[in-house]
Amino acid sequence: MTVITRFAPSPTGMLHIGGARTALFNALIARRHGGKFLLRIEDTDRARSTPEATAAILEAMDWLGLTPDEAPVYQSQKMDRHIACAHSMVETGQAFRCYATPEDLQARRDAGEAKRSALKNADLSDADRTRLQAEADALLAPFRSPWRDGGTPPAPNAPYTIRLKAPDQGMIQLDDKVQGQITLQAEEIDDLILLRADGTPTYMLAVVVDDHDMGVTLVLRGDDHLRNTFRQIPIYQAMNWPLPDFGHIPLIHGQDGAKLSKRHGALSTLAYRDLGYLPEGLSAYLLRLGWSHGDQEIFTMDEAKALFSVEAINKAPARLDLAKLDDINGHFIRAAQPDRLFKLVMPFIEKLTPVDDPVLRSRLEAALPGLTDRGETLPQLAEAARFLWDANAHALTKNARKALKGEKLETLGKLQRALDAENDWTIETLQNLLDSFCAQHGLTIGQVGPPLRAAVSGGLPAPDLAPVLAWLGRDEVLARIATHLPGHSPAGS
Ligand code: GLU
Repeated sequence: MTVITRFAPSPTGMLHIGGARTALFNALIARRHGGKFLLRIEDTDRARSTPEATAAILEAMDWLGLTPDEAPVYQSQKMDRHIACAHSMVETGQAFRCYATPEDLQARRDAGEAKRSALKNADLSDADRTRLQAEADALLAPFRSPWRDGGTPPAPNAPYTIRLKAPDQGMIQLDDKVQGQITLQAEEIDDLILLRADGTPTYMLAVVVDDHDMGVTLVLRGDDHLRNTFRQIPIYQAMNWPLPDFGHIPLIHGQDGAKLSKRHGALSTLAYRDLGYLPEGLSAYLLRLGWSHGDQEIFTMDEAKALFSVEAINKAPARLDLAKLDDINGHFIRAAQPDRLFKLVMPFIEKLTPVDDPVLRSRLEAALPGLTDRGETLPQLAEAARFLWDANAHALTKNARKALKGEKLETLGKLQRALDAENDWTIETLQNLLDSFCAQHGLTIGQVGPPLRAAVSGGLPAPDLAPVLAWLGRDEVLARIATHLPGHSPAGS
């Protein structure tokens, strides 16, 4: 049997990272088993669904490489089919016309609440208390319609809903692929509405019909849907359809253990892109958020495809840990192909300086691979490269100021002459030049390095000096050194 999974977001807002994780897990299962990963846009709530939200969801999935294997299914386009299924359940006696109005249901709830309040009266006899309790429980229990076994309409044209005749008694069993065996008393399920009084299908019906029609074999979703699953199982049974497997993933919590909310940081998947995370960094982080394989921390998606299993999804909620996300993202920044990284970081550099200068572009191209351990996100990396275009980027640190005085400044003057005489400006020759300069003057790199570093980068703890000199180029290095040597008049004075 081909494994078919699906992701079924409602386009009422952004794709948050919890949803992205659900999509990722579903995609990985399908890929692991050579199956199919499908996308269904659950846009039946016309008032709250927007095309912008749909576009943002598709964009976020695309960014994460979670492109579904078939064109997305739009739930709103399947309405006729949902309605037909509801009618077929009426024909087989699994569903019925219910004439209870919303007002009737409200009156029932109010009566239940009134009885529950009456229980607070301390003067009640034990017998009255038992009776009242039973009455309150019955009124507040999941609704079982008085029309479930037929009966005449209250008026000839009385409006009605179509409700499912929920299982009478016994247990509803769920062998949840993540949570294990779960059971629920059938009485806890109401005669749920399949078609509203205006004839439109409910979400509960639409999900079941669509999952069946799409051939979904595993429904893997957040555990906020667990209760829905118990309401959906009877719909499958009423339609005489085989049940798919179900798995419910614990929701993501914040560091403080509370359910994830805006105050825990950015929730939208695309916000992470805009904050300078790489898609493979966020994916690898989301993967570990609720799934593990031994003590391996970092996975490429190819590795994950070979290893992922529903059974290894954790039963306990995972906590969002942004420091770990940075850490994992840093790993993928270091692993990225230089030309790809260049393209990714450019928009962040462009926020700091115009990037149309070809000299700067070639400096950046040369330097980036050497700077990757200077930033865990793209904006950090952009900032680490600042010295390439801004001589005063790292406004002289205290140590840098110290390194540009007295003997050290004299050393810098000598070094400048040596550099000035060097015409072959490559990392290798510059490294040799620095080494022989030290040897010739009886100095260590610990004495020569600080003034040079201070002069060319303001003291930035940049990578090795020879590459920094090579990236900046001869003219720029000599000019930067010159500004610190005696006799130089600061620009503008
Ligand atoms: N549309 C539902 C949601 O966004 C998901 C339904 C499902 O996965 O079955 O929460």
